[in-house]
Amino acid sequence: MKLSEKLSKIQPSATLAITSKAKSMKAAGEDVVVLAAGEPDFDTPEIVKEAAIKAIKDGLTKYTPAGGTKTLKEAICRKFKKDNNLDYDISEIAVSNGAKHSLYNVLQAVCDPADEVIIISPYWVSYPEMIMLAGAVPKVIATKPENGFKVRAEEIKSAINEKTRAIILNSPSNPAGVVYEEKDLKEIAEVCLQAGIMIISDEIYEKIVFDGREHLSIASLSSAAREASIIVNGVSKSYAMTGWRIGYMAGNKKIISMVTTLQSHSTSNPCSISQAAAQSALVSDLEGKMKENCEKFEQRRNFLVKSLSEVRGLTPFNPAGAFYLFCDISATGMNSMDFSKRLLDEEKVAVVPGRPFGEDSFVRISFACSMQTLEKGARRIKEWLDN
Ligand code: PMP
Ligand code: GLU
Repeated sequence: MKLSEKLSKIQPSATLAITSKAKSMKAAGEDVVVLAAGEPDFDTPEIVKEAAIKAIKDGLTKYTPAGGTKTLKEAICRKFKKDNNLDYDISEIAVSNGAKHSLYNVLQAVCDPADEVIIISPYWVSYPEMIMLAGAVPKVIATKPENGFKVRAEEIKSAINEKTRAIILNSPSNPAGVVYEEKDLKEIAEVCLQAGIMIISDEIYEKIVFDGREHLSIASLSSAAREASIIVNGVSKSYAMTGWRIGYMAGNKKIISMVTTLQSHSTSNPCSISQAAAQSALVSDLEGKMKENCEKFEQRRNFLVKSLSEVRGLTPFNPAGAFYLFCDISATGMNSMDFSKRLLDEEKVAVVPGRPFGEDSFVRISFACSMQTLEKGARRIKEWLDN
């Protein structure tokens, strides 16, 4: 049987595969320490759960417009004004089944075959595959830990050619926790504006920034930057709502309309009940809760960086945001696949290899878990490498 050539080149999501393997080992009674998951360990806020129950009881159980309900879009517009000082009209918003789906759809709307999309390594595992699924080609710019894993504007300039359609920026980033400052963003925006390429700004970790930093959206730098940008965000990470599957995007009306048409033929609307829940998350007073969660992530980050710095063979990169620690393992003599496989088999600690993020001498360790779990994981890693 002849099957799709395009799909046969796509790898399954390593983050989802490892997390699900580790969770099923745990469910089977094995004492696994799961440091792989890309989701907050906190529960969805009670007020959000109540809103979902109310939505069911009120009969919000039917199809909604393909790009999301008007009331949710209005709540998203208010969020952009409050958090990012950006004015959007509801015609510039589309709601999808998670930020992953938003990114997938934007790439479908922007790319034609053989177009190029710039991504910065280490990148989130799904970026190259989503670009290829849109028929386009990922153009990877490598960065180094000694430069804070940050891309410089002139490197972007050299990577741009007549086939370049867009760049995906991710701040705070997965997997290295890189947070771009205003100065960096201004330089990047200038290069992109000059070349006329689109900036797809993945801001899903916006609420998780450390050491007193503030998240800044590249779209808020100027009206020209706003015009060139599509912001992707969602409720998964900020409100501990990964399973509800609500993400959204803001930007150019034409793209929003194309994405809405695509959704109308592929997924229809995002779940009506999840939309009501997401709306409640955005309009309820949850700032204090988010701040509290962020402080917990920061304490865990501090603990993990300190304890792994003391382990022979490991050089952790200090993340400024998100909830992952990207750790250099090259001094152990193992590549990331062997390291992760052996650590899981021999010590029952699940981490994600760096290879699918574009860095084979690193592993990604999630600290979206309790302090107790982290202590246990760090102890096992130390004992394993000491031996
Ligand atoms: N972007 C990045 C960088 C991520 O790590 C994730 C994690 N899933 C997403 C987007 C998508 O999030 P979701 O689909 O759960 O909204
Ligand atoms: N984004 C998370 C991660 O990187 C969740 C899994 C996924 O969607 O890939 O682990």
